[in-house]
Amino acid sequence: MKKIMRSLGLMLALLTLTVVVSACGSKPLSQRNVLKTDQQSKTITWGVKADTRLFGLLDTKDGQIKGFEIDLAKAITKQMLGKDAKAKFIQVTSSTRMPMLKNGNIDAIIATMTNTPERRKQVAFSNTYFYAGQSLLVKKGSSIKNVKDLNRQKGTVLGVVGSDSVENVAKVAPNAKVLQLTDYAQAMTALKSGQGQALTTDNGILYGMSVQNPDYVVTGGTFVSEPYGIAVDKAQTPFRQAVNQSLKELRANGQYQKILHKWFHNVKGFDYEEAARE
Ligand code: GLU
Repeated sequence: MKKIMRSLGLMLALLTLTVVVSACGSKPLSQRNVLKTDQQSKTITWGVKADTRLFGLLDTKDGQIKGFEIDLAKAITKQMLGKDAKAKFIQVTSSTRMPMLKNGNIDAIIATMTNTPERRKQVAFSNTYFYAGQSLLVKKGSSIKNVKDLNRQKGTVLGVVGSDSVENVAKVAPNAKVLQLTDYAQAMTALKSGQGQALTTDNGILYGMSVQNPDYVVTGGTFVSEPYGIAVDKAQTPFRQAVNQSLKELRANGQYQKILHKWFHNVKGFDYEEAARE
């Protein structure tokens, strides 16, 4: 009996230790000082898209994620923490980015995420780093030229779960049917296979799809403004301020414009001034 009691006690102690140790590892983000720990480790962990050409796209040849947001995140990291600092990238989608930030898996989201009043209830945003607008992608020659046509023809429009684009289009074209896919790669595949007549999200993302699929065009101009901000936990004000300061410096020293040009110079009709708006 004594023996059983003793081993039970030992098991209990081990269990308590495990709970304590794992709790330390996953201290809520709001109780950490992200700026301080990132300064010490000389690393910022960014949540980025890996399915979005021009912004963040996984290159299957070398396993690297590439795009405007990747280069900007690297530049901010070095500007903030020094030349030898490292940007670490974790893939997110429109629906996983918020929970991943809340769980402390990432320090910041730089993933085509619009700064909206609704989202500001949950996270804080940096100043705008890319000023997008919501638009439509359709097959060349489509009878849908804008959201009004989409509404009138009661077409099916494709979007992505967790994006604000699906809510916006439902308001602007209430007669259209909205079909939500898990990411932009799947949404494009659905458009090509005729599951919908249009795909909706921000113009910059759609330009990336049309560069890759020249039979598809961005049409109808923009119908909702979508200013992108870097999202951080609400309690991390010093970190957010440091991000803003770095962004300001990168705009002032021309690096920001250089990165923008690198990714968008091939895009027909791209409006630099609009994109760089703050
Ligand atoms: N910018 C929009 C949003 O934040 C659409 C792009 C995306 O799905 O990330 O929801």
